Amino acid sequence: MTTYARLPVTFERGEGPWLWDKQGQRYLDALSGIGVCGLGHSHPAVTKAICEQVGKVIHTSNLYGIDVQFQLAEHLCRIANMEVTFFCNSGAEANEAAIKLARLYGHRKGIQNPTVVVMENSFHGRTLATLTATGNPKVQAGFEPLVQGFLRVPYNDLAALEVTAQNNNDIVALLLEPVQGEGGVHVPDNGYLSGIRQLCDQRGWLMMLDEVQSGMGRTGRWFCFQHEDATPDVLCVAKALGNGFPIGACLARGEAARLFSPGTHGSTFGGNPLACRAGLAVIEVIEHQELCDQASELGSRLYGSIKDRLQSLDGVKDIRHQGLMIGIELDKPCGSLVNTALSRQLLINVTAENVIRLLPPLIINYQQTTIIVDTVTELVHEFLNAS
Ligand code: PLP
Repeated sequence: MTTYARLPVTFERGEGPWLWDKQGQRYLDALSGIGVCGLGHSHPAVTKAICEQVGKVIHTSNLYGIDVQFQLAEHLCRIANMEVTFFCNSGAEANEAAIKLARLYGHRKGIQNPTVVVMENSFHGRTLATLTATGNPKVQAGFEPLVQGFLRVPYNDLAALEVTAQNNNDIVALLLEPVQGEGGVHVPDNGYLSGIRQLCDQRGWLMMLDEVQSGMGRTGRWFCFQHEDATPDVLCVAKALGNGFPIGACLARGEAARLFSPGTHGSTFGGNPLACRAGLAVIEVIEHQELCDQASELGSRLYGSIKDRLQSLDGVKDIRHQGLMIGIELDKPCGSLVNTALSRQLLINVTAENVIRLLPPLIINYQQTTIIVDTVTELVHEFLNAS
């Protein structure tokens, strides 16, 4: 179906941060398959793990024990400070699980219409519940009636949240991205996440973080909430967890960890041995090669260099980043830059119409960041001069 407006290129193979098209032309991937291939393409450790697992067993179903799933759950809980994990196959499904947890939590407290607070400008997926949670009317248009039980507030605004809290007794949880990705790489003020944690504690709400894009080392920590030590009750992960092999996870701790019981939720493919083996390999490589630190260092360098060269330009509104999640906001729509970058063998993305988004792989090196900085700054100069 025509769900995608595709660029005129087809890739045949990849290695590290590089992709090759059918004609043998090489491209530098500064987008990582939209934040998925954090370890770059064809990472040998992930490839080896997947190939070995294929030779053993791919799928048995959750009717039986799956050792590799239990191991991955243990590692995820360790790095995220969580207690239990539900495995699924995508980010939207991880968020669906979180929303279902919030509703169970509310009903258990005797609330008939449990309400989840979500943010303006957010993105949580394309299923009916997650597109309802998404704060972008374009994602929702044509799919009405939307799902009930959501309330929207401005992002990065604790005062607005306090007012909403005072006026609504049905709120049971908050769902938000700690850094908004699709919405334009919006990084909240220092203290926002810990403020939310405090409010959730005071009010007895579940704090549910969608780290589908910001998780797995991208922002310089395993998870973005760790910059503020604002541990959520529910954490959603997907994208980079399998480095391209589809896998998602909804993690929980405390009361949220004890809400599901056999039969209340499930997934045929969720947590299959192959996906979990990929996830284990990813965690091992990030840990062993200290890639969270690398993301932090190279992210600061990329951001610093781009800022030095672009911030004083008329037409550049703002430059934002956390780790290797970088956004350059222009004062006009700039989607055409994606094609221009492609013609110079660089893969970038434009989101929210006027924000150039860079999500390079965590394994990128210093020299490759220089190519990104040079090309992107050149493109922006040309674009602004021409328009
Ligand atoms: N949540 C966030 C923050 C995302 O960025 C995305 C995808 O871009 C999703 C959820 C949806 O993930 P998926 O496409 O795997 O369903």
